[in-house]
Amino acid sequence: MTSVASPPASAAHHELAAHEVVLLLETDAHRGLSAHEAHARLNRFGPNTLPATAGVGLLVRVLRQFHHPLIYVLLAAGAITAGLGEYVDSAVIFGVVLVNALVGFIQEYKAEAALDSLRSMARTQAKVVRDGHERIVPSDDLVPGDLVRLEAGDRVPADLRLVRSTELRVDESALTGESLAVRKDEVVLSRATPVADRRNMTYSGTLVTTGGGLGITVATGAETELGEIHRLVGAAETLATPLTRKLAHFSKILTVGILALAAITFAVGLMRGQDAVATFTAAIALAVGAIPEGLPAAVTITLAIGVARMARRRAVIRRLPAVETLGSTTVICTDKTGTLTENQMTVRIVWTPGGRCEVTGSGYAPEGTLNDHTGARATEDQSLRWSLLAGAACNDAALAERGGRWEVVGDPTEGAMLVVAAKAGLGPERVTHLVPRVKTIPFSSDRRYMATLHRDTDTAGHVVLAKGAVERMLDLSGAQMGPDGAIQPLQRDRVLRAAEELAARGLRVLATAMRTVGGPEDFADEAVPGSLVLTGLQAMLDPPRAAAKAAVAACHTAGIAVKMITGDHAATATAIACEVGLLDGRDPGEGVVLTGADLAAIPAEDFPEAADRASVFARVSPEQKLRLVEALQARGHVVAMTGDGVNDAPALRQAGIGVAMGETGTEVAKDAADMVLTDDDFATIEAAVEEGRGVFDNLTKFITWTLPTNIGEGLVILAAIVFGTALPILPTQILWINMTTAVAMGLMLAFEPKEPAIMTRPPRDPDQPLLTGGLIARIMLVSTLLVAGSWWLFEWELAHGATLAESRTAAMNLFVVVEAFYLFSCRSLTRSAWRIGLFTNRWIIVGVSVQAIGQLAITYLPAMNTLFGTAPIGGPAWLRILAIAAAASLVVAADKWLRRPRS
Ligand code: ADP
Ligand code: MG
Repeated sequence: MTSVASPPASAAHHELAAHEVVLLLETDAHRGLSAHEAHARLNRFGPNTLPATAGVGLLVRVLRQFHHPLIYVLLAAGAITAGLGEYVDSAVIFGVVLVNALVGFIQEYKAEAALDSLRSMARTQAKVVRDGHERIVPSDDLVPGDLVRLEAGDRVPADLRLVRSTELRVDESALTGESLAVRKDEVVLSRATPVADRRNMTYSGTLVTTGGGLGITVATGAETELGEIHRLVGAAETLATPLTRKLAHFSKILTVGILALAAITFAVGLMRGQDAVATFTAAIALAVGAIPEGLPAAVTITLAIGVARMARRRAVIRRLPAVETLGSTTVICTDKTGTLTENQMTVRIVWTPGGRCEVTGSGYAPEGTLNDHTGARATEDQSLRWSLLAGAACNDAALAERGGRWEVVGDPTEGAMLVVAAKAGLGPERVTHLVPRVKTIPFSSDRRYMATLHRDTDTAGHVVLAKGAVERMLDLSGAQMGPDGAIQPLQRDRVLRAAEELAARGLRVLATAMRTVGGPEDFADEAVPGSLVLTGLQAMLDPPRAAAKAAVAACHTAGIAVKMITGDHAATATAIACEVGLLDGRDPGEGVVLTGADLAAIPAEDFPEAADRASVFARVSPEQKLRLVEALQARGHVVAMTGDGVNDAPALRQAGIGVAMGETGTEVAKDAADMVLTDDDFATIEAAVEEGRGVFDNLTKFITWTLPTNIGEGLVILAAIVFGTALPILPTQILWINMTTAVAMGLMLAFEPKEPAIMTRPPRDPDQPLLTGGLIARIMLVSTLLVAGSWWLFEWELAHGATLAESRTAAMNLFVVVEAFYLFSCRSLTRSAWRIGLFTNRWIIVGVSVQAIGQLAITYLPAMNTLFGTAPIGGPAWLRILAIAAAASLVVAADKWLRRPRS
């Protein structure tokens, strides 16, 4: 079987029976495709991906570069100049427009490519059955005919016709906009059933909220329903964020204002009887010089570079605005298990009503022993045996040895329980032999326990085994088991005390229970309270992550509160919180540690305050997470919140920064998140915040650097017209300055390393303007220096016998040299240029060198002289330029020194 007819687009798989779909797609409902066939089909049908930038062709992208108000002004200016017979000027203007479009195109393309590659990093995986074995493959590799398994939390990787399902519900809002999850099964439907009602199909991009199923891939990539929508909408992901939108808006208003000013200048010039052509050219120069055209592009690129830096530190940004928000984060709400801790569980103590034993050995290797208080090996205790059996059989994890290292496949909590049972001689095979499983009530964070029905091969009867949170299991239990296996009355308080004592040491405690039953009919969807027999407690150690303590401390120094939100026991949570320094010397008590039950009891009006004060939230349900986010936001916080499960999605969406776990998180959580941690580590959140602050710094630096050029150029021209003198700089020269300096020098600020003090200042207020009063003053200062310096130099050169062209060339070079010196100052907004070190950003050196070559070319190349109206200048003129620039730098340095932050 090598050639499946390409699935006809019109194939109505929903009206065929499952076995007909199997035949049609030449696959097998149990074994799936062979790896060989899958490979062949991948070559034929191509990868299961959507075309990256559907709809936006190259031409559109190029044309889009001309769609800016400034470009319109320039094009008009070019046309008018040509009409006036100034062909060289006109050619230069058109040339600059072209170069500008090209640079814009390349920049946009690179920023998008960076984001695209990030998107593919966040690529999803699919569970597929091939050659009769289930395996995990990148969802890109799915082909028509592939048999795919779906579980709660998965994103449906392709269009599937279901062949099996259990309680399957799918959130199809991505496709239909309907946010209520819809029920799915495998029944045959009539041909006319619309897509939204095809219950036996699941569609690519939708999310499994509960249950599970098995389906045959009928369409991949662009052939899927999602692909169809994608093609119709053709929406290219925009690179816009609130900040870029604000800036774009700002530049538009500025453009209009400046055009008006230019028009007035032109009118004034005409009224004073100046030459119409010269005045017009001057007005154009004013407009061209004063508009900060490079600003929006620079912002996008700085953001994109920030995204790439974050990815290098294992934080994948899914939505660009998150980069901005990260810098203003004031509270981080984090999971405990796996984020602050290693998620490397080892059962240390097993407590039973008859005694307790210590467990030796480390890691997941099933090597070690269980010793009672005398140090002798514990063997006879029946409750111990049943506790271990429950832990190992009511369990979906598996152990695997890879290269001499034992690893858990599945939940580490369950892995630890497999290991302790194996240490006592109850290895996985023996357990399945003793108590083969019949039915399951799965674990969920809401339920806080898991229960399974088994056949008992010893007695030929049935047993229920269960494990879960201690309070929960105590509610479900009505009795306990003695060492001899006898059923005793439940000593609730004694069990609770034992659990508290273990939890206070930072151990994660689960209780186990069992019950003999008649048969499957005695096993309902939920365990009946009081029906079970408690067999013991298992306490496991999950050490804090090495980097967690330092990261928490760094957040505190940076004015960011860290709160732990966990489903675990309050005592365990508090002990871990202390270990990672989260309580910061505060006493647990006085509202610092709250449980889900405490939260439920707090009146609504006191809730936000209580949420703000507490640092540890234990036994919290996912629903309460949402309430916590909202409460903290009501207190004016910018909240980052972590999550991994399906139920966490609403809280992740609500939070300013939703953070999903890359390793353990479900696709649903990742989909709702703004950022995904590829290593699940708390320290990565802290790193991302740091990068977010750095991005903002670099943006501010760029704006502080670039605006004086625009203001200075505008003022020079304005002054020349008002005073009726010759223009010190020509319009084409202004174009040259604006186009070259922003790209060659200004953009290099985006590569500026973070300031050392970046995590010692408080978070940025999201409403705070980009430029503070001090920076605006500095911008005005530099603008004034530029105007005064270039004006004086221009007049001095003229007065000392230089030609008009030579004097202009000197003035134009002065602008660029002052900007180059000022660039070094702008590398830090507060520290002096000398303190930063000259070579700590080699891109700056590269940029300035490139610019220098450009200046030499425009000054000395005859062709450039003709184009730009420049002329070669001599050594003494260069010395005057350098002297003025140095003097200007001293003034800026003095200003910086006077305004330096004093501590
Ligand atoms: P967290 O991951 O924040 O520690 P969870 O919601 O995963 O919280 O777990 C809450 C509680 O449920 C745990 O403290 C534990 O008692 C219990 N629990 C955790 N995992 C399992 C499991 N696989 N089976 C049964 N109970 C579990
Ligand atoms: Mg968990």
